[in-house]
Order: sequence, then C-alpha cells, then structure tokens
Amino acid sequence: MSSPKSAPEMRDRIPCFRCGTCCIAPDISTLRKPVGVPCAHLRDDRLCGIYPDRPPVCRDYRPDDLCLALQALPPDERVPYYLAYYGMTDEAPAS
Ligand code: SF4
Ligand code: SF4
Repeated sequence: MSSPKSAPEMRDRIPCFRCGTCCIAPDISTLRKPVGVPCAHLRDDRLCGIYPDRPPVCRDYRPDDLCLALQALPPDERVPYYLAYYGMTDEAPAS
C-alpha cells in the first residue's frame, strides 16, 4: 500500500502562474525590497529579469493555495489581497 502524500509533496503540485504577485507584495530583505513595491528585477511581463541568478529566498519560494486564490482575482486586486492575507496592508505605500 502506498503512503499518503506528505504536505510538501502536495504543495509542490501547485504550479506557479507567473502572476508576479510575490515579487511585489512581500518585503524581501535580501533585495532591499519594501512591502508593496515591485522588485527592481521584475520585468513588465511579470517575469524575473535575473531568473538564473535570483537569490535563494526566491528559489525557495513555492506556490501554495494562496496562488490559486490570486488567479481568481483581477490582476490589480492580487497584491492588495496578498497584503491583506498576511496582515501587511498597513506596511504598504499608499496607492
Ligand atoms: S504569487 Fe504564486 S503564482 Fe504568482 S508568481 Fe508568485 S508563486 Fe507564482
Ligand atoms: S529577484 Fe526575481 S524572483 Fe526574486 S523577487 Fe525579484 S523578480 Fe521576483
């Protein structure tokens, strides 16, 4: 009998939709990126401009259930949703 899949294995089954939200919403100290500000390396097409050389914090990021929820939203609502989900709305610059 095969064992049930562990949580990490299930998590890895969620694809990245390349929406770029996680490159805008959270602060990333390694990149000196504040909350709610696009990473300097994020391209206009929402892809990473230094993908082969992105830092470990980006390499280790894994899509999760939040990514699924984000894709159901209009693009301009994704960053606000991400910030609210993690209680960071007050840390973001006023829009
Ligand atoms: S928020 Fe999720 S789906 Fe969007 S780019 Fe980041 S990992 Fe991919
Ligand atoms: S370095 Fe690339 S993957 Fe990391 S936050 Fe910036 S654009 Fe996103």
